[in-house]
Amino acid sequence: MSVCNGCQKSFEESLLITTDHFRGEALVQYCDVCFLEGARDGFGDKSLQCECGEKMILDQDDEEVLSLAKDQEVIFYRCKKVVEARLAKNYDLVEQMEDEHEWVGLYVIQPEDDYE
Ligand SMILES: [Zn+2]
Ligand SMILES: [Zn+2]
Repeated sequence: MSVCNGCQKSFEESLLITTDHFRGEALVQYCDVCFLEGARDGFGDKSLQCECGEKMILDQDDEEVLSLAKDQEVIFYRCKKVVEARLAKNYDLVEQMEDEHEWVGLYVIQPEDDYE
């Protein structure tokens, strides 16, 4: 059993998500609930802000975020305005805004050689 870094409850090792908080910090483990909560703002990453001043938020639904995290993939953040337009199925608006508003993909664990 392992302990979640958020709620401090014990879980089966295989149920926990390991991350370096997307920025090369020491590896910690989270349960699904705590991971999602932390990932919502990139574990307190203040640079997750679009040029337009809006916050950048998760660009996938919760289930997708968890599945990407468990596969140690990249999680995408996008300007809140664009995500909201997409959720409202306003695809023309999304297309218009896509170029002007920022997005970023963050590794759940940073790859070892990040220099290439
Ligand atoms: Zn937890
Ligand atoms: Zn924006």
